[in-house]
This record gives sequence, C-alpha cells and structure tokens, in this order.
Amino acid sequence: MSQPRTELMDPWRACRRGTHLSGEVSLSRLARLSSAILGLGKRADQSRGDDEGSALYDLRFQLDAEGRAVVHGHVRACLRLTCQCCLGVIEQPVDARIALGLIAQDAQAAQLPDDLDPWLVTARGLDPLELVEEELLLAIPQIPRHPRDSCQAESPGRGADTSEPSPSRHPFAVLGSLRKTRD
Ligand SMILES: [Zn+2]
Repeated sequence: MSQPRTELMDPWRACRRGTHLSGEVSLSRLARLSSAILGLGKRADQSRGDDEGSALYDLRFQLDAEGRAVVHGHVRACLRLTCQCCLGVIEQPVDARIALGLIAQDAQAAQLPDDLDPWLVTARGLDPLELVEEELLLAIPQIPRHPRDSCQAESPGRGADTSEPSPSRHPFAVLGSLRKTRD
C-alpha cells in the first residue's frame, strides 16, 4: 500500500549510540496524514496544488537511567484542516512533545513508566518519520471546526449539535419546527 520512503533504521542501535535526528519534512510526503486530511473533504483552496506545508522535528534516541531505549523530542507544524461546518480552512498549530519507550512486544508496554508512551518496534526496523506522522495524526480533532463565533456557517442548527447542549434547545423542539416548515 505505502511505498518505502526514508531509510529504516535500527532504533535499538540508535539509542545505544545516542542518535540525534532533526529536520523538516513536507507534509505531503506523509501518506497517512495526507489521506486523513483529505478524508475531511476538499477545501476550496486545495485545488491549486499540494502546498500543505511542512513539519519540523527533533528526535533524540537514547538509553535512560534504567537502560530503557527511549525517544524524546518534539514535532512542530501547522496543519491546514477543513472546517466540517463551513469547509473553510482551519490553521491548526501543532507543537507536540514526544516521549516514547521502545518495546519489542506489546506486553512490555505495561512495564513503561507513565510518562513514556509505548512504541512497538517491528522486525523491519523503524522509520523516524512514522513517529513524526503519528504525533501529527494525534493532533487532528475528530471533527475539525472553527470556534463557533468565527465560523462562516453561522446558521443556527448546523454545528450546534455537540457543544454545550442548552436546556432550551430540546431535540423535540427542533423536530417540531422542522414539521412546521414542511407544512
Ligand atoms: Zn467553519
């Protein structure tokens, strides 16, 4: 499905060596991220090209005091998402810290301290950009939308379904008004 991209590395060796990786990656190279963003629907400004910006990353592979293989770092980017109410652009800044404990088997996740997220290393090795991509995917809200006061879709009823259900807006009251308009 996805073609190999950057070089796969041996993360265990990288941790023993204290490898430090930093750089910039075009978001369009991150296939899962791109499809997640496209899956939200095409924005009006998306037709003219693939200028989706880039992400800056900084990853330090090291062994911690207990000899655990860990990755610390951060990812910064600005994702251009599609507002699910008005289909306008949402600039979603991401500034995520990474703190991962590398594991070789799922069961080892339970042994990690709370401040480390588990990252399962498969036999094929590790693509550092996958770490970057995963952090960015986590930053995408399930239903991206502008704050209510700055969204273009201001018509009441649209987009008012999830946040702060006020007692006066009873669902049956909405039904009633729908019936009325149909008659
Ligand atoms: Zn909007």
